[in-house]
Amino acid sequence: MKIRSIALAAAAVVMLTSLAAQTKPAAVKTLRIYIFENGFIRGLDTKLFNLAREEVKEPDFVNTSYLIVHPRGTLQFDSGGIPDSQFKGDGALVVEGVQSASKPLLPQLAAAGYQPSGITYFALSHYHSDHTGNANAFAAATWITQKAERDFMFAEKPEGIIQPATYNALKGAKTRILNDEDFDVFGDGTLRLISTPGHTPGHQVLLVRLAKRGPVLLAGDLYHYPEERAKGILPTFEFNGDQSRASRAKVEALLKQTGAELWIEHDMATHAKLPKSPAYVE
Ligand SMILES: [Zn+2]
Repeated sequence: MKIRSIALAAAAVVMLTSLAAQTKPAAVKTLRIYIFENGFIRGLDTKLFNLAREEVKEPDFVNTSYLIVHPRGTLQFDSGGIPDSQFKGDGALVVEGVQSASKPLLPQLAAAGYQPSGITYFALSHYHSDHTGNANAFAAATWITQKAERDFMFAEKPEGIIQPATYNALKGAKTRILNDEDFDVFGDGTLRLISTPGHTPGHQVLLVRLAKRGPVLLAGDLYHYPEERAKGILPTFEFNGDQSRASRAKVEALLKQTGAELWIEHDMATHAKLPKSPAYVE
């Protein structure tokens, strides 16, 4: 009996060890981006974006977030809109106002081989609630944020398209605060947060230098529709339109200089062409 229980214990240790090995993904040699689909935003009035319905090819949004894996760590960029806690695990569509989703985020992250507790860095493009849905899950990571964004998020009465309950845990997270500045995340130029205030006080975009595909710029909500970019039009609800114009000019110059592709986070056409996690772009 004793020998049997020792054997069982030994088997359990072997099993747990191999499980632990499985949960720690192998280091990568070059950068990769995993693209997560966090549902859709439908029925929006294009007039919110200063565009007539007929000026916009596709009025609905996809909701996207990304995991960037670097040889020395990981960065989760944005976190979807509907918190995973709202899903019942039956694959049913969850609807919250204009947002709907059938897939929670963390199982997609797990399918790529990652647990939120093992993520090195977390960054938001901005604090709007369609980007902060699962921010609390990443409170063990180092949060990289512009000071102006963080100040607004933790103001006494934050106003606007904002759901503090989804990100409150970030308040106690280890935090790297930026002062309207760009930031080279791993210090080797392959992953750079670019300060682009205007849509919100501390909006930021992410420039990723991929070895095979080349540079890619994850644009957050610098633009929502490609038509905003083509026509030079700002949404009606910018925090500071002058800053938005300056940030767009900065990013357009960066795109020209680097030859980077622009991925507009909510753009259906961009999203449709990209592989979704657990596939990745490298
Ligand atoms: Zn958005």
